[in-house]
Amino acid sequence: MKRNLPQPVDSAFIKKANKVTVLQAIRESDSISRPTIAHKTGLSLPTVTRIVKSLINEDGLVVNTGVENARRGRPPDRLKFNGENNYVIGVDLGYTHIYGVLSNLNAKIISELRIPTQIRSDKMVVLKRVAEVVKYLIRQADVNRSRIFGVGVAVGGLIDKERNILKRNDDFNWDDVEISRILESWADLPVHFDNVTRVMALGELWYGIGRQYKNFICVNAGHGIGAGFIIDGRPFYGSIGMAGQIGCMMADPRSTLRCACGNYGCLAAIASGYGIAQAARQRLDAGDESSLRAQCEGDMGGITAEMVAHAANEGDQVARDVFFQAALNIGVSIASLIDIFGPQAVVIGGGLTLAGEMLFQPIRDAVNQRSLKQMAANVQILPATFGMKSAVMGALALILNDLLHLDIPIPGKRQSQEFPADTEAAKEPADISLAM
Ligand SMILES: [Zn+2]
Repeated sequence: MKRNLPQPVDSAFIKKANKVTVLQAIRESDSISRPTIAHKTGLSLPTVTRIVKSLINEDGLVVNTGVENARRGRPPDRLKFNGENNYVIGVDLGYTHIYGVLSNLNAKIISELRIPTQIRSDKMVVLKRVAEVVKYLIRQADVNRSRIFGVGVAVGGLIDKERNILKRNDDFNWDDVEISRILESWADLPVHFDNVTRVMALGELWYGIGRQYKNFICVNAGHGIGAGFIIDGRPFYGSIGMAGQIGCMMADPRSTLRCACGNYGCLAAIASGYGIAQAARQRLDAGDESSLRAQCEGDMGGITAEMVAHAANEGDQVARDVFFQAALNIGVSIASLIDIFGPQAVVIGGGLTLAGEMLFQPIRDAVNQRSLKQMAANVQILPATFGMKSAVMGALALILNDLLHLDIPIPGKRQSQEFPADTEAAKEPADISLAM
């Protein structure tokens, strides 16, 4: 099925969507009764009762917690999201490290492991390492394996959602990798993967700022730079899943710094982790004096963004210039995104955020100066809720998102919404919302 073709509105779709709506209502409160869910969602009480029954008996995602105080009649049972005894595994497959966690659905981490990626190895060797991490996490956690819903993997690069492959990762130098198929054959669990920054955005949606904001942008500023968009409470994929490559937005047409994509002057080429390193190298090549020269002991290739940030903190002028220029460029690009999307918040994560205000202050200044002031006044610039754990938290959310079919396409309102009169779906409101 092609994701972006208009979807027929069928009763199975409505049922799935209503199930999500009910589960979200339960998840959003500490405990809730069936009548309150019906009131909150606009669904009929019999429909709510039927859905709750399957959430309790078949999915094991909801539990009864006791009775509600009611003035008369039999008090209705209270229901609660069952995050405790259900588990997911999240893996951040990064350029330098593979970081995995096994957690329950309340995001309580049960076991975790971080190992070097060894990215220069063959891709099958790298993926085997991911599978080993998954196996280790399961062994360590000692939980009921049948309650582990699956493995979510966050990875950089262009994702083709239609073919379910990693189409291209410039940093890894990988093409057309069937990550799910390969890992499933080794891990013996369902595996879902997506672009790391969109995954971070999903993590924020499920466990972070998503409880306050339905429209926000995640910016991942690490080895590379990317963006993930949450629009009206749902992740945005673009036509086949490749949206969000802000690292290749043109930032400086005169720049001689090369991007991993092959172009010159892309945002990532001058402002990502590797961009900052190569910008610093260029300044040293030009003869500028900097403590970085002594630090790298003549091996200019050994300069990292971390070294630049550290030297900048120590007062090194070249390092300060390079880092400031990078932060400013990220800020200018974010300002454009704000003007285009009108988000409530921009959440920034990734390794560069370890530099703290040295990164955030120029970004805030650029947004205030470059975004339309009416939009800048309404947007929060925030650090990622889970810091360096953002990608892995998002990978957990990736499984939940799939489990609950949160990314099923929503039929447009203009499409026909007619149902046979005798189906249950016909009695339920078609104007469903997957907002969380
Ligand atoms: Zn590029």
